[in-house]
Amino acid sequence: MTQSTAPETTVKLSLVVPVFNESETVALFIDSVSNVFDSEPLIELEILFINDGSTDDTLLRLLELQNVDSRIHVVELSRNFGKEAALTAGLQMCSGDIVVPIDVDLQDPPQLIPAMIGKWREGYEVVLGRRIDRDSDSWAKRSSANWFYRLHNKMTSSKIPENVGDFRLMDRCVVEALKELPESRRFMKGLFAWVGFKTTHIDYARPQRSAGTSKFNGWKLWNFALEGITSFSTDPLKIWTYLGLMFSAISFLLAIFIALKVIVHGIDVPGYASIMVAVTFLGGLQLIGIGILGEYLGRTYIESKRRPIYLVRQIYGSKS
Ligand code: UDP
Ligand code: MG
Repeated sequence: MTQSTAPETTVKLSLVVPVFNESETVALFIDSVSNVFDSEPLIELEILFINDGSTDDTLLRLLELQNVDSRIHVVELSRNFGKEAALTAGLQMCSGDIVVPIDVDLQDPPQLIPAMIGKWREGYEVVLGRRIDRDSDSWAKRSSANWFYRLHNKMTSSKIPENVGDFRLMDRCVVEALKELPESRRFMKGLFAWVGFKTTHIDYARPQRSAGTSKFNGWKLWNFALEGITSFSTDPLKIWTYLGLMFSAISFLLAIFIALKVIVHGIDVPGYASIMVAVTFLGGLQLIGIGILGEYLGRTYIESKRRPIYLVRQIYGSKS
């Protein structure tokens, strides 16, 4: 049990750090982590970098750092699989009693981790880092994120906490639970929420990136949001039944109305505009419905192939 961990025992902490073209930020990250943990004697640190197919010299930088710091391990994936897959690789390979997925760009401040460990020692199994201000994000990113959280949480039973990213502390039991989940398309935020466990949070202001640029543009975020909703809700598939019923009911009433009108006023030919509106409107609606079916079918198709989530090219360090 987590609660039995006495405050004075040594604990092994794994930092899981996905990196993709981050040659400018890795050294800054290690400096910052060292500053925090060199003065923490009770924490045995493992820093597990997942090099997610970087095309710059990130790997070289990492290996240089590893030469002088044996806490660093590097797992190199065979190509860019995306942050979710890289995180999955890290969670599967880390060995800490507690695990923290963290961005390398210092937007998830390592200074917060000792406080998270404090909460864990109180008996919590998950300690979320919650952003109290997102000034570092653009207005568009913030408001679209807000909408996404609202929509997602309306449609799913496992709610994603708002303003929470992947940065969190997890007990080993939570990591083991995540490893049990077999799906290959992994929306980590949703999976984290799905497994549950005793959760609390710590607030922080999200700083700007230490260097380099964000890897997520608008199109990637839109697809990320689609992934989130389709992974955890089938509501978009179901609304068509109700929309269909609604339109059938309306057209039935309309039919009665037209029949009565013909009986009372005789045959009335004009009606081109209203027919065109109905045809194009319903045509559009049907295409949207087919599109949504396609989103789910496509995902089912990919999932049915049971391909691995990621492939490892090489492991540097003692990870096996
Ligand atoms: N990242 C990754 N694979 C990708 C994209 C990003 O491993 O395909 C890593 C990236 O190196 C960083 C973290 O995910 O450590 C967060 O990325 P970023 O800072 O670009 O995202 P943002 O903070 O802008 O949402
Ligand atoms: Mg970032």
